Amino acid sequence: MTRNQVLFDRACQTIPGGVNSPVRAFRSVGGTPRFITRAKGPYVWDADNVRYIDYVGSWGPAILGHAHPVVVQTVRDAAVNGLSFGAPTEAEIEIAEVIASRLPSVEKVRLVSSGTEATMTAIRLARGFTGRNKIIKFEGCYHGHADSLLVKAGSGLLTFGNPTSAGVPEAFVQNTLVLDFNDLAAVREAFAQQGEDIACVIIEPIAGNMNLIKPAAGFLEGLRELCTQYGALLIFDEVMTGFRVGPQGVQGLSGVTPDLTTLAKVIGGGMPVGAFGGRADVMNAIAPLGGVYQAGTLSGNPVAVAAGLATLKLLAEPGFYEHLEQQARKLTEGLTERAHAAAIPFCADAVGGMFGLYFTKQIPTSFAEVSAADTERFKQFFHAMLNQGIYFAPSAFEAGFVSAAHDDAVIEATLDAAEIVFAKLR
Ligand code: PMP
Repeated sequence: MTRNQVLFDRACQTIPGGVNSPVRAFRSVGGTPRFITRAKGPYVWDADNVRYIDYVGSWGPAILGHAHPVVVQTVRDAAVNGLSFGAPTEAEIEIAEVIASRLPSVEKVRLVSSGTEATMTAIRLARGFTGRNKIIKFEGCYHGHADSLLVKAGSGLLTFGNPTSAGVPEAFVQNTLVLDFNDLAAVREAFAQQGEDIACVIIEPIAGNMNLIKPAAGFLEGLRELCTQYGALLIFDEVMTGFRVGPQGVQGLSGVTPDLTTLAKVIGGGMPVGAFGGRADVMNAIAPLGGVYQAGTLSGNPVAVAAGLATLKLLAEPGFYEHLEQQARKLTEGLTERAHAAAIPFCADAVGGMFGLYFTKQIPTSFAEVSAADTERFKQFFHAMLNQGIYFAPSAFEAGFVSAAHDDAVIEATLDAAEIVFAKLR
């Protein structure tokens, strides 16, 4: 038995499903999760001491590659000075200033410890600020696991959604409208009917939780216009895309300015940091200035902030994102070429350091289209690549990530493995 299997069996005795976050359990692809012992640059090693080229990157944070020496040293230095104070620090001001100076929409920002906290609070803030209850989200977008966001579309277009998790009372999601990504007409209709009650629209402006799905031309602009017209807030959930798709997130790429932005992943450099920020007048509605409550014992944790700050500083180096996008493109174009050479229906897309792989003929533009992809073939691909030492996300519905440490040799090694794998999938 492999050591991974021994550990997994043991984990299952005391940890539900053997994991601390469900996708890690390999449920949708089958097989034994790899227990990671260490990581460096583009690589992770498992408990059987097998090395993998890693395209998960801790689900986004590892944009510099794992264990970047500058980040690690900064964390060490911070730890020596104390792990947590529960009082303000200068580093918190610095990271807030960096975020506000780089993201066009952010005037004020508050730190939390996860993406879930960031989106949960952004929604509360939007409701508190507008005095309205309803929110719009899009099918296939994930915004963390707050009750009112664990919702899928209901039966009728403009009816409220259904909980996607047990334990979420229907009453908690009655104010959540779930519409199709890229369907601006549906959003227009929702506003026309219920505009007075809609507090906000929350969206992954490039979706990364249903594989990678880009907004259609005019979609984000249309959301902006409707929100402005009806006095609702536009929330960009850039937990995944923030500092990942480019130096200013999707708001920089699209030129569309949200009222609030949620962040996590990259801004913590691998440590638990989340944030929400935006218009000063909206942010001032948060306690202690305003009546919308939010707090956190470990918010702005000095060690986590040190990792985030060190990471954000390194991202500002000239050419960083150009290199990142180039490497992602080499990967997606190389994979597409090799799949097609083996006559496998396949396509791929990338934005900055984020990519999507699809076993479809055309790049999908909605949850329905991505759901029609060949998931059986994805499973075979996933396991065959894993056997070749390449670690992609263990689900057909997750975006992938390259880091700055994924150099040409690493991408070439990946493509060589893919050539062997695609030939077998035929
Ligand atoms: N929003 C988005 C867009 C995400 O991708 C995620 C996590 N994958 C979250 C929110 C939740 O973040 P966390 O897992 O840090 O709670």
